[in-house]
Amino acid sequence: MTGASTYDLTGKRVFVAGHRGMVGSAVVRRLASENCTVLTADRRELDLTKEEPTLRWLAANRPDVVIHAAAKVGGIAANNNFPVDFLCDNLALELSVIRASHAVGVRRLLFLGSSCIYPKHAKQPIAESELLTGPLEPTNEWYAIAKIAGLKMCQAFRRQYGDDFISVMPTNLYGRGDNYHPDHSHVPAALIRRFHEAKLAKAPTVTVWGTGTPLREFLNVEDFADACVFLLKNYSSDLPINVGSGDELSIADFARTVAEVVGYQGELAFDTSKPDGTPRKLLDSSRIRGLGWRPNVALRAGLAAAYADFLKGSGRHLEVSATR
Ligand code: GDP
Repeated sequence: MTGASTYDLTGKRVFVAGHRGMVGSAVVRRLASENCTVLTADRRELDLTKEEPTLRWLAANRPDVVIHAAAKVGGIAANNNFPVDFLCDNLALELSVIRASHAVGVRRLLFLGSSCIYPKHAKQPIAESELLTGPLEPTNEWYAIAKIAGLKMCQAFRRQYGDDFISVMPTNLYGRGDNYHPDHSHVPAALIRRFHEAKLAKAPTVTVWGTGTPLREFLNVEDFADACVFLLKNYSSDLPINVGSGDELSIADFARTVAEVVGYQGELAFDTSKPDGTPRKLLDSSRIRGLGWRPNVALRAGLAAAYADFLKGSGRHLEVSATR
């Protein structure tokens, strides 16, 4: 089953939940070229973890489509250190946004998952069918369990009520609007900041966490936002769908690429007291490719744009954890 379908966004009201995060803000930028009305709610105006106010807000604003990009996210250390936030806040957001969307009759909902929902030792590249076939990577299981629950909610609402709710699983993302917190960010933002600061300080070495051997696939967030809009228009199924770039490299090679983009010329050191996380995480994106979607942004060019964005100070530099 391909899950192919068509949905016309023209004239629709599209609510982007989590529009200040890296993904939500990229989706808002991407939707600007669609003939639809984009709705957003400021955090001070609406706490999306609370179902009653969320229901009232949705009932008043009547979106046809909801993109659920609101989540508590962070890198390997943040996941390890804030298990309650990653599990409970994400579950609360999902229950509130998904149930309220159903209650007000939202036509299409797109839920954002993560490649960390798949088992630690999943067959590579990871097909959607690997879900729940083995134990999770312990460093991010709180977040993964919450995201699995969210995709199961979408399946359950589809099964019980026929709601057209879909789930999309991005690979590791990077780009404009990332969170540059030195300890709690994901590896692209962490290394952009660390190499930049080392360049300014003329530091002889930069420390990279772990052994440098884990393999990761990176996708630019503008490509991911484009995939979300593509899937809203072209995909309807209870199966989650993967979105990756196919750009896989070791953390050591990734770090060297970031160093080159930033213009840092010193040495790399590896801190093996820090966790590696899952050994390999390459998504099988053949289903979205089969529907006709392709990424556009090459890794080096995407990192150069992310670095330019960092220099402008538009990322979120100090948040402990943030939505993306
Ligand atoms: P993950 O894909 O869920 O493990 O998320 P991360 O982006 O946090 O980490 C990816 C990989 O990069 C892991 O193997 C980390 O150990 C490694 N890594 C190397 N340096 C850093 C760093 O400074 N911050 C983070 N978050 N990860 C790093």
